[in-house]
Amino acid sequence: MKALLVLVFSLLVTATSANAAQTELEWYGHSAFKLTTPSGKVLLIDPWITNPANKHGKADLAALTRVDLILISHGHFDHVGDAVAIAKTTGAKLVSTFDLGKALTTYAGYPKAQAGFDTQGNVGGEISVLDGEVKIAFIPAIHSSAIMDENGKDLHQGGNPGGFLIMVKNGPTIYHTGDTDLFNDMRLITQFHKVDVMLACIGDHFTMGPDRAALATKLVAPRIVIPMHYGTFPILNGTPAEFKAALAKDGVKSKLVVMQPDETLKF
Ligand SMILES: [Zn+2]
Repeated sequence: MKALLVLVFSLLVTATSANAAQTELEWYGHSAFKLTTPSGKVLLIDPWITNPANKHGKADLAALTRVDLILISHGHFDHVGDAVAIAKTTGAKLVSTFDLGKALTTYAGYPKAQAGFDTQGNVGGEISVLDGEVKIAFIPAIHSSAIMDENGKDLHQGGNPGGFLIMVKNGPTIYHTGDTDLFNDMRLITQFHKVDVMLACIGDHFTMGPDRAALATKLVAPRIVIPMHYGTFPILNGTPAEFKAALAKDGVKSKLVVMQPDETLKF
C-alpha cells in the first residue's frame, strides 16, 4: 500500500465549490505524473512509473487499471518508461507529436490503433480530448528525442522533443516542461493561457538546472511550481533547495511545492 499525502490547494476558488469534483495530480518521481480529471478520466505524463526514485513502482504500475491517455514528451527511455505495457493493458491512447508516435508504434511496440490523428499533434497546435474536458497544447523544448527499439539496442529518430500545456475544464492549467533548457519563448505561453501549475525539470546535466529553471519559472509565472527530473540518478544533482534559493534570488513569486514520490495534490 502506498502512503498518500494529500494537500489541498484553493487554486481555483471560483471554479471549485466545496462539493465539486477536483483534479488530482500524483507524482511518481522523475517526470512521471498521473492527472485525474474532475470526471475521473486518467492521463499519464512521461510514465516511467518504475523509476529508481519510486519505491512502490511495481505496485503503482499494477494499480493503473484505468488510463485514458498517455502523454510522452520525447523518445528517451526515462520518459517513454512503462508506456507500452500500460497502453497494452489499458487501451490508453498516445498523445505525442506525429513523428514520435510513428516511431513508438514502429520501433517500440506501442499499439498502432491507439496512436491516431485524434491524439497526435505538433508544436503550435492544440487538441481537444476526452469529450472536450481537456485541451492539450504542444510546446517546444530544447533537447533531443531519439528512441530505442524494443531490443534496447538501436536508436531511431523520434522527431523533436516537447512539453505539454494541459488545460483541464473546471481545473488547473498545467505546464509540463518535458526535458528542456530555458528558452526565452516560454514567455509566449502566457500570451495565450494563464499557467496555474508548472512542472519544471531542475536536475541539470541533461536539462536545465536550478538557476535556469528559476528563470524559466519567472517567464511562465505560474501560481505553483513543482520541481521534477532530479535525484533519480546521482548525476541529476540539481536540488529543490538550490531551486528555492534561485527562485528567491530572481524574485519569482510562484509558490514552490516540492512533492514526494506517490504524493497527490488536489486542485
Ligand atoms: Zn529525461
